[in-house]
Amino acid sequence: MNYKKLASLLLAGWCLTVLASLGWNTKHTQQEHLHFLQDTARLIFDHVILVREWNANHGGVYVPITESSPPNQYLEIENREIVVDDKLTLTMINPAYMTRQIAELATQSNGIQLHITSLNPIRPSNKPSTQERVALLEFEAGDSEEFSRLLADKNGYRFFYMAPLLTTQACLRCHEKQGYVEGDLRGGISVTIPDIHPAPIQGIIIGHCVIGVIGILVILTLAQKLSESYEKVRQQSIIDVLTGIPNRRHFIDRLATEYRRASRNSTPLTLLITDIDHFKQYNDSLGHLEGDQCIVIVAKTVKASLQRGGDLCARYGGEEFIVILPNTDTAGGEKVARRIQKNIAALEIEHPDTPIGEHITLSIGLATDYRDYPSQYNLIKRADEALYRCKQLGRNCIESNGHDNTDNSKS
Ligand code: GH3
Ligand code: MG
Ligand code: MG
Repeated sequence: MNYKKLASLLLAGWCLTVLASLGWNTKHTQQEHLHFLQDTARLIFDHVILVREWNANHGGVYVPITESSPPNQYLEIENREIVVDDKLTLTMINPAYMTRQIAELATQSNGIQLHITSLNPIRPSNKPSTQERVALLEFEAGDSEEFSRLLADKNGYRFFYMAPLLTTQACLRCHEKQGYVEGDLRGGISVTIPDIHPAPIQGIIIGHCVIGVIGILVILTLAQKLSESYEKVRQQSIIDVLTGIPNRRHFIDRLATEYRRASRNSTPLTLLITDIDHFKQYNDSLGHLEGDQCIVIVAKTVKASLQRGGDLCARYGGEEFIVILPNTDTAGGEKVARRIQKNIAALEIEHPDTPIGEHITLSIGLATDYRDYPSQYNLIKRADEALYRCKQLGRNCIESNGHDNTDNSKS
């Protein structure tokens, strides 16, 4: 798998993970927030019910008549008012009246709305709102025991909660005449809480964006570094350390490729193997370091003698270099071989101990495949055989092995 693909896969995986986490966290946080609002609303409702029970258990409580506690005109009971003296008259506050008063206080202090309501209210202001009607009908149908919604309007979000009010013995004092019996659903109390601190979704989104971007940068940086290291290792594995030209491994890979191409296109493929003559003596007289320098110069010269972009020169062994010449016949290969020998001769590298002359010389074996292509190893073998013939014939020459049984010539 190449590194771009790996990096793309990692990036896609990372983005999906961050998006999945964002989705889950957002949903979870919203749900938690709704649970919190619902618990708060339920607690307020339960408190109101407790206070109502307390009131109902006393059969209502009497309070002085004031501007905020006028007599309840809808309360049709005996002794609704009790005159204590000239200055003090008390009026009955029943659970419903008390609930309204608590509701007014709650709205004034923190914006929470409490509303006692019924599908069949005695007091017109207790008529249900649309939302309350939906809840009351659900309670009547027995579909649910409590009802909650997050509502949105121009003033923002509000959490609406409602639970039913069941008729108790104490309620019958006022409501028996409406036909209620104990346990009947008589209405409900709604609690509406302004959602002034919405779920912290923005923070979650920003956090995920930051983590997402950091992750993407880390993946891109690591992929880049990995790709650079891979390219470095790849280069090191195919380049000869001493000469800087491709090594034998790279040559084998490239020859296989060129061999397939030549077979496919039926084009000739020529191979040259060059070997420095009497190099052992060169080392022996001048030392191995000088020998290494000579190998480097010869490698550069052989490489520089190739003119086509597709030609390849590699270090095949100690002081042997191999050249692949795609789409080149024997005559073309011999031309290149002669150019190499000429360029080496032009260097005039002194060889103190060679029977050939005063300078470094090369023997070159050449082989070409023209018509059929038995195998690339066969081509190497024939080039090697040609090189051996060179050495037998006195060195500093070029020997060719054309196509099997077709062309064996000496130049
Ligand atoms: P011939 O003309 O038959 O080729 O004689 P030769 O002495 O060159 O024999 P051969 O081709 O077998 O050469 C092998 C010698 O090349 C052995 C060693 O001294 C030398 N040699 C091989 N690799 C290196 C190298 O990396 N550095 C140096 N300095 N010398 C090397
Ligand atoms: Mg050799
Ligand atoms: Mg040699």
